[in-house]
Amino acid sequence: MFPAVDLGDLERYRVHAGGGAVKLADIDPRDRQGLSFGKAEAKKATAADIAEIDRLQEILYAQAKHAVLVVLQGMDASGKDGTIRNVFGQLSPLGAVATSFKQPTEHELAHDFLWRVHEAVPPRRMIGIFNRSHYEDVLVVRVHGLAPPDRVDARYGEINAFEQHLAENDTTILKFFLHLSKKEQTRRLRARLEDPTKRWKFSPSDVAERERWDDYMTAYEIALERCSTDAAPWFVVPADRKWYRDAVIARIVRRTLEALDLAYPSEMPGLDKLRIT
Ligand code: AMP
Ligand code: MG
Repeated sequence: MFPAVDLGDLERYRVHAGGGAVKLADIDPRDRQGLSFGKAEAKKATAADIAEIDRLQEILYAQAKHAVLVVLQGMDASGKDGTIRNVFGQLSPLGAVATSFKQPTEHELAHDFLWRVHEAVPPRRMIGIFNRSHYEDVLVVRVHGLAPPDRVDARYGEINAFEQHLAENDTTILKFFLHLSKKEQTRRLRARLEDPTKRWKFSPSDVAERERWDDYMTAYEIALERCSTDAAPWFVVPADRKWYRDAVIARIVRRTLEALDLAYPSEMPGLDKLRIT
């Protein structure tokens, strides 16, 4: 189950279960009211939060009782890759695993939409990070009509049941929507085109997707409203500033780990009498 955690001012970004319609236009991608500090202090706080996440991750691993799943969603260039590098990149590779979900293969499409996702969920003791996720099946699939509307409609409930099932099996789920403005996306996509080290990230389809921006926002609003549950909450993270995005996510992950009953396993009986000779 998602632990009781008081996130202070960051609670403003949680989408409350049963809270009614979500209007992304009313949420500022440059909002800074969740944290009381500016850029320099935020960077220090993020570094401290990451160090603490790393410390707690070792206990999570040793204890082998909980799994943690972090879902990252957002438009192209919203910072999913950057978040993984900045916030989770310093964890031990033994204890963290990131999975990117691309266009499904023929083999994947022959199964139900959760099949490839269930295979990738973290086992107990691991932090799993999803770069895109099963939500694509109610986002890109909805926007482009890749499945019949009644099938897409059924998926919200199926996703909630799936996440509830994971939660009841010791998985703590955190879902972050990286809320980018279209203006900032324009800037970042242009930079991608101009920078030879970033051009590989650019796909001509990004331009076509951008043209469906409003449809995507609507699809996100529906998913956020229907699938933010007590077991697996969504957070809308202002993402126009990278340092702010990282600071918010690092703090929420840290607070969530702190709220779990993490403890090193108790000593095995008789260990104190063992002598290494
Ligand atoms: P990227 O994250 O930029 O590497 O792009 C991955 C692409 O795969 C995105 O355009 C996604 O929308 C697409 N994608 C991921 N999952 C699905 C899915 N279930 N159905 C269709 N397209 C998907
Ligand atoms: Mg892309």
